[in-house]
Amino acid sequence: MISLVPFYHWAEMYPDCGRNAQSPINIETQSTKYDPSLQPIKPLGYDSKLGEYFNLSNNGHTVVMSLPNYMSLEGLPKKYSAVQLHLHWGSRGTEEGSEHQLNGKTYLAELHVVHFNSESYPNFTVAKEKADGLAVLGILIEVSIAGGHSKSLVLFNFVFSAGDYVSLHSFDVHELLPKQMDKYFRYNGSLTTPPCSQTVLWTVFAQSVQLSRQWLMVAASSLLVTLQGGQQPLVGRQGMVALPV
Ligand SMILES: [Zn+2]
Repeated sequence: MISLVPFYHWAEMYPDCGRNAQSPINIETQSTKYDPSLQPIKPLGYDSKLGEYFNLSNNGHTVVMSLPNYMSLEGLPKKYSAVQLHLHWGSRGTEEGSEHQLNGKTYLAELHVVHFNSESYPNFTVAKEKADGLAVLGILIEVSIAGGHSKSLVLFNFVFSAGDYVSLHSFDVHELLPKQMDKYFRYNGSLTTPPCSQTVLWTVFAQSVQLSRQWLMVAASSLLVTLQGGQQPLVGRQGMVALPV
């Protein structure tokens, strides 16, 4: 059984959710400032040819893929190691599923690749409470006019119901990232779900990733969550309650 708390009540139960550095945000590009000290993001080990297995599971809230610690990011103030990735999308029939907005535009969906500061802290659980504990890559997803889609994302479609999982051999996470990685928006924010801890260094890429409309419709209708005893389609917004980010 999943206890859902309407997100407009989060601040009553989780004080951080009412504080002033909350994510997601609307990124107004005219209000952003170029910072020459920011480094290009360099993903290390994302292009896995090492024969590792990746667990992809439906936890009843969203589809989460656990990631090995050898995947890490360079170009941030500290070394950050990967923890998991997951997807946010909207309810069936809506094309507004992303968490961040770009100049007021909500995208179809948004992928989050979650990392923790492995230079300073032993694991994700400790790091998520620290001011410099987490770094998340945000990838905006939109409908591909050409109908193309990422092969990797299609795999999400195999994890149908809460509790389902699959193990994937040699998964290429790099394929999920935009080609242009040197243009991004950086800000200090928070987990987008309770406890809303303001411990996340966000990198939201300016370039979106294209996904076919057909894929998203299939995914939205086939992913189920056990809700109050029955199975209902999994909706990204509902799923926010228990997501780590
Ligand atoms: Zn997220």
